[in-house]
Amino acid sequence: MINIVIFGGPGSGKGTQSAKIAKKYGLFHISTGDVLRDHIARKTDIGKVAHSYISQGMLIPDKLMIKILEDLMRSRVEETKHGVIFDGFPRTLPQAQELDMLLTTLDTRIEAVIGLEVPDDELTKRLLLRGQESGRSDDNAEAIRTRLAVYHKQTKPLMEYYKETGRYHAINGVATIDEIFDQICAVIDKANE
Ligand code: ATP
Ligand code: MG
Repeated sequence: MINIVIFGGPGSGKGTQSAKIAKKYGLFHISTGDVLRDHIARKTDIGKVAHSYISQGMLIPDKLMIKILEDLMRSRVEETKHGVIFDGFPRTLPQAQELDMLLTTLDTRIEAVIGLEVPDDELTKRLLLRGQESGRSDDNAEAIRTRLAVYHKQTKPLMEYYKETGRYHAINGVATIDEIFDQICAVIDKANE
């Protein structure tokens, strides 16, 4: 069993790589972005709150986001027993600390954090391109600017948190999908030894 966090800016390829990782290693893929978009589509109370933040490119407040994640983990004990790939969570220091505590109570831990490193101009280019067909309320120029600023201010500091505990592994996120995946697999296989 192995638990992994995939980390990186908006549009860095977290979702694409997570799907491949989940398949190859039999991990349960938790994408908090997908979870929130599902709430929005179903027009739940959480969805209404989430939409107001997401469409502006802002983060959902920690307290709510952490509750959603905890509820999900506790309701999916069977599916998550071979490990989880966390995609889009944690995005803030309180979320990272909470995740470590939660996994401790579940008698497990995050073994490796995969950081997909991509320059801002490349991220912007990808997100604008995705916006032409994604229909996502946050793939427009203004929300993208906010998402990048939020990433640098609130999410990037997490790198240090994971580096301090020797869990951060940088991957160059500017390459083909398969090249990036091969590099990720090398990191996971080493962490799994
Ligand atoms: P990628 O394209 O690399 O898969 P992304 O940044 O485009 O990633 P998502 O991870 O799907 O997109 O997140 C979309 C939005 O959902 C975020 O901008 C934020 O508003 C909200 N969100 C997702 N995860 C969290 C979280 N852990 N904390 C707070 N808000 C979150
Ligand atoms: Mg995503």
